[in-house]
Amino acid sequence: MSNTHRQYDAIIIGAGIIGAAIAFELAKLGYRTLNVDKNPAAGYGPTSSSCAIIRVHYSTFDGTALAWEGYHYWHAWAKYIETDDERGLAKFIECGCLVMKTELNGHLGKHVRLSRELDVPFEEWDAAKIRERLPIYDTRRYGPPRLMHDEGFGEPSGGDLAGGVFWPTAGYISDPQLSTHNLQRAAEAKGAEFRFGREVVEILKEGAEERDGKGGGDAGRIRGVKLDDGTEIDAPIVVNVSGPHSAIVNGMAGALDDMTIETKPLRQEVVHVPAPAGFDFESLGTVVSDSDIGCYIRPETGNHILIGSEDPECDPREFVDPDDYVRDFTEQGTAQAHRYGQRVPSLGIPSSLRGVVDLYDASDDWIPIYDKSRVPGFYMAVGTSGNQFKNAPVAGKMMAALIDYCEQGNDHDARPLSFRLDHIGREVNVGFYSRKREINRESSFSVLG
Ligand SMILES: Cc1cc2nc3c(=O)[nH]c(=O)nc-3n(C[C@H](O)[C@H](O)[C@H](O)COP(=O)(O)OP(=O)(O)OC[C@H]3O[C@@H](n4cnc5c(N)ncnc54)[C@H](O)[C@@H]3O)c2cc1C
Repeated sequence: MSNTHRQYDAIIIGAGIIGAAIAFELAKLGYRTLNVDKNPAAGYGPTSSSCAIIRVHYSTFDGTALAWEGYHYWHAWAKYIETDDERGLAKFIECGCLVMKTELNGHLGKHVRLSRELDVPFEEWDAAKIRERLPIYDTRRYGPPRLMHDEGFGEPSGGDLAGGVFWPTAGYISDPQLSTHNLQRAAEAKGAEFRFGREVVEILKEGAEERDGKGGGDAGRIRGVKLDDGTEIDAPIVVNVSGPHSAIVNGMAGALDDMTIETKPLRQEVVHVPAPAGFDFESLGTVVSDSDIGCYIRPETGNHILIGSEDPECDPREFVDPDDYVRDFTEQGTAQAHRYGQRVPSLGIPSSLRGVVDLYDASDDWIPIYDKSRVPGFYMAVGTSGNQFKNAPVAGKMMAALIDYCEQGNDHDARPLSFRLDHIGREVNVGFYSRKREINRESSFSVLG
């Protein structure tokens, strides 16, 4: 697509990993794009706090297919990026991912069935095999997860874990911010532009001034954006990839009215602790998802371990104002560290915790929204619910295809785009990610998607 009179065909709000991937993929289709981000550089928002775990198991067919497709991009990252980055390329540490079998995840029956269906490699491990691979692990059951001051915290609840499933084609990205910079450079090599340190404060629409004087309300097609310094930038397409600010930006565009799925900023703490002395977790460890203790973990450089939360029932969910929330650790971080201490008794927990506090853009069913909107020319890749870093390249490609499909006059709401996942040879119905879907009951209703 190109128009010789206009500078940009599309403005992308946000330059996180998905925003940058959409720029790269739209640029490949010939769209002249501009990403605007209020941060000073690409991937400085929630993307930089991401654990950047690349896993290939989900509880839905579409979730699994997208993640399995996404894996192939990270596996051949240099080939995908096509260009050099003066800072070097991010690395995919393919250490695998072990998931403990629990009642909560139905002993992984659904996940294993979907992996078989999609030819995703996996291995069944019993408790003895888990201890052999991770000798620092105590495989007794502790679940269900509790609060630290609850009776019985830290005491085994009876019996051993029923084992786990190990997916070898999983791992994590060494540096999520760098991977976003890689995508920025890749997009720029195709003509895309990025503007940092500027906030979009208004979405402009044709005919809007006459109707409500502010560019909001029920107006015509997208005409561009207004920045916090008063600059107006024209473009007939605007894409909302603003992470935890997604509902605010959708509101600016007047795009909320027909959405059945809401997106909300959810506060999260991720703790970094040293691995127990004498065990090289960095080389020998794997990603582990452990709903028996309500935590996921992954190795981190310097023989450290990152401990995130799987948002167990007992923990309050803290929805916050994305511009005003507590960035310090609370009891939550301490609870996560001690829950992991149940599984690894030799874990040393520092008295002063280190790590990150940031936000998920959580959707009602923890499945993202990759969609158009009721406003012609306004699109969204939002509600990524703490689990879409892995999908960024394929989501970028799917969003670019969706935008192109709609801009050619197709009605995606009535006839949803069918999108081909090239690496795994499957077609998916992009309508699965609709803003107007019914809440998906197959979802895990957690960060696990
Ligand atoms: C603690 C944590 C751990 C996670 N772990 C994993 C994981 O292990 N695996 C996984 O797959 N996913 C994980 N995720 C999720 C994943 O990181 C996100 O889904 C992904 O990074 C979202 O990328 P994004 O492009 O939507 O943008 P974000 O990184 O959310 O950034 C949005 C950008 O929009 C900008 N912005 C917002 N409003 C405006 C405005 N009005 N004007 C200009 N700019 C604006 C912001 O400055 C920001 O840079 C995790 C997330 C968090 C927070």
